[in-house]
Amino acid sequence: MKAAFFVLTQQQRDYIMAQKSLRNAGVTLVFYDEVLDADHIPPEVDFEIASIFIDSSIDEKLVSKLPNLKFIATQSTGYDHIDLDVCKRRGIIVSSVPSYGERTVAEYTFALILMLSRKMYDAYHRIREKRQFNLRELQGFDLYGKTLGVVGTGSIGKHVIRIAKGFGMNVVACDVYPNEAMSKELEFKYCSLEELLEQSDIVTLHVPYLKSTHHLINKENIYQMKRGAYLINTSRGQVVETEALVRALKDEHIAGAGLDVLEEEGALKDDLEFLRDALKAERLRTVLAGHALIDHPRVIVTPHNAFNTKEALQRILDVTVQNIIAFASGKPINVVK
Ligand code: NAD
Repeated sequence: MKAAFFVLTQQQRDYIMAQKSLRNAGVTLVFYDEVLDADHIPPEVDFEIASIFIDSSIDEKLVSKLPNLKFIATQSTGYDHIDLDVCKRRGIIVSSVPSYGERTVAEYTFALILMLSRKMYDAYHRIREKRQFNLRELQGFDLYGKTLGVVGTGSIGKHVIRIAKGFGMNVVACDVYPNEAMSKELEFKYCSLEELLEQSDIVTLHVPYLKSTHHLINKENIYQMKRGAYLINTSRGQVVETEALVRALKDEHIAGAGLDVLEEEGALKDDLEFLRDALKAERLRTVLAGHALIDHPRVIVTPHNAFNTKEALQRILDVTVQNIIAFASGKPINVVK
């Protein structure tokens, strides 16, 4: 059985190639530098297994060009870059890597929060670029005693709450499936999204991207947030309506935002795609609003980097190898339904 890996570093390739367990399971390996999507079809399409990251995109058009594809091992927790309906119709099984980086992403969430609460970037930039040691406009605020609103209390949200408690923050949370035992153990309260937005000094998003979470924060409810509150998003860009956030920042209703993910981050990364899609007015507006966020002085944007630690990447590779071996042995694990 042939497995194709897309966009791995040389070090990651070497690690995968050194895995005897893959060879023992009868898996042969091929590596491609480019992402896998309808615009990037690899020269050989005879592989049964594709191992991709979130920068690849699996849709009907692509799948129709991969006649042997039976299994996708995504090196991520989220799988919104894969059209599951198409995979189901074509009998392609999809596995993901659940909970490789819940602590990793939770720690990063607080990196973004502290960057905003203590103006860390401004302080650093001022010294580095201007050799200015004055404290003008560097006054921040304590996290102690502030209210953090955690939207989504799954693997990552849970660790965000733990860290928040370490800072002495009050925590309110919402989830479609509240975990009452956890709320008792970690001493936080569940409420509705509306109440959470009204009460929180900082709102942080930890939901998957689904139809039901598309623009969960939008033009209507962003103004339910406290005036002067902050928004943190390390989940997926599409969970926040970009234009709504730009407007709320402009009105100074939202004091600032820490965003590891942006709606249309693919198009923002790739100017050519931006030009190709220039006629699609709605996407164009969102791309432009994304640029406005990047340039905004009270917004910190990072390049979908929250998962990116040595330890988390190692866990991703190890679970991906396990996922592939399990599939090759006829007993797939970590299957996305
Ligand atoms: P998880 O599935 O463990 O938890 C998600 C939680 O969100 C669940 O408890 C679920 O019930 C809840 N939820 C779903 N819809 C909701 C809604 N409408 N309102 C409130 N709660 C809702 O997932 P996780 O491991 O905590 O990861 C969350 C997301 O973080 C992932 O789906 C992925 O998109 C993102 N992520 C980002 C990075 C990064 O590098 N920035 C890395 C890993 C994961």
